[in-house]
Amino acid sequence: MSRALNFNAGPAALPQTVLEEAQKHLLDFKGTGMSVMELSHRSKVYEEVHNGAKLKLKKLLTISDEYEILFIQGGASLQFSMIPMNLLIDESVGSYVLTGSWSEKALKEAKKIGQTQVLASSKDQQYKEIPSADLNKLSQDSAYLHITSNNTIYGTQWDTFPEVSVPLIADMSSDILSKPLNVDQFGLIYAGAQKNLGPSGVTVVIIKKDLLKRSNDQLPTMMNYQTYSDHNSLYNTPPTFAIYLLDLVLEWAHSEGGVEALEVKNTEKANVLYDVIDGSKGFYNGHAQKDSRSKMNVTFTLPTEELTSSFLAQAKDYGFVGLNGHRSVGGCRASIYNAMPLDHVIQLAEFMKKFKSLT
Ligand code: PMP
Repeated sequence: MSRALNFNAGPAALPQTVLEEAQKHLLDFKGTGMSVMELSHRSKVYEEVHNGAKLKLKKLLTISDEYEILFIQGGASLQFSMIPMNLLIDESVGSYVLTGSWSEKALKEAKKIGQTQVLASSKDQQYKEIPSADLNKLSQDSAYLHITSNNTIYGTQWDTFPEVSVPLIADMSSDILSKPLNVDQFGLIYAGAQKNLGPSGVTVVIIKKDLLKRSNDQLPTMMNYQTYSDHNSLYNTPPTFAIYLLDLVLEWAHSEGGVEALEVKNTEKANVLYDVIDGSKGFYNGHAQKDSRSKMNVTFTLPTEELTSSFLAQAKDYGFVGLNGHRSVGGCRASIYNAMPLDHVIQLAEFMKKFKSLT
C-alpha cells in the first residue's frame, strides 16, 4: 500500500510505524481483549500509557520537576482563554507579540478577560518576519509575555526566545519536539498534538508549578489548571486514544535519536525546499524573510495567481496532498513536521524544479 505524499498543516502525517503499531493492537491491547479506546481510563493498563506519555515527554524535552505536564482537550484554541483566565489576575496586563493569525486569536481571547498589551507586531509587514520586541516597553504590571513560536500560516519561526522577567508563555503547537528546547526559559508551553505530537484531541500544557498558585478556585473546574494538576489530568475522562498515540509518537521520537537528531533532519528537509526557492531566481517567492523562516511550514507563491493555481493543480495530480496555503492567505505551503520523510520532501523539490523548467 502506498502512503500519501501528505503535506497537510495539521492534522498532519504521522510516523508510519506508529500507525502500524496502533493497528496491530487495535483489537487486543496488552492481552486485555480490548482496544485502548475501550479500556477504562481508571484501569492500571491505561494509567501506564498515560503516565508513560508524560514521562517520555519529560525525558525528551528535559523537563524538570518544577513543571507539571497536563493533558487538556479543547485544542490550542482553548488555551487562548485558559491562559488569561488562570494567569491574568489582579489588574495585571497580558503582554503579546503578534506574529500571525494564531497570536491575534490568543490576544482576542485575553482581551475578554483582562488588560492586554501588544509589545510588538509584524502585522504591517504581512507577518513576513518575527519582530524584535523592545523589552523595556513591557508593562510594569505584565503578568506574562505570550508568543507563538512557529507561525503555521505565514511560515515564520522564532529562533531564540526573549529573556524576560515575567513568565514567558509560548504556543508551540506547530514546532514542539522539532528541536531542543530550554524549558526553564518558559512559564508555560502549550501545543495541540495534531502536528508533531500525535492526532488532534489532546493538547499538552507544560506549566511551571509556581504559576498554578495564581488559579482562582472560583474558575469553572474544567478551566482551572489546578484541577488537571491535582488529578493527573484524570479529573474527567481524558482523550485516551489520542494520549495513547501521543505515547507512541514520543516513543518513535526517542527511537529517532530524540530532539537533537530530529532537529538535524528537520533542518535538512527545510533546506531542500528553501534551496529550490532561493535558486529559482524569483520564480518561487518565499513569504518569510530569510532570518525568520520556519523549518516546519515552507510558504511561497509563484509569479501570478494563474501559475500558483496551475502549480497546485499539477501537484495534486502528481499525488501531493495539502500544498494549498491557508485559506486566509492563499499561495502554497508545505508542512514538513517531524514525521515527514525526507524522500517526500525531495520529491516535492524535484517537482518544483520541473514545473519551473517547463513553464
Ligand atoms: N496555534 C497554532 C500555532 C496553530 O497552528 C493552530 C492550528 N493548528 C492553533 C493554535 C489552533 O489549534 P487548535 O485547532 O488545536 O485549537
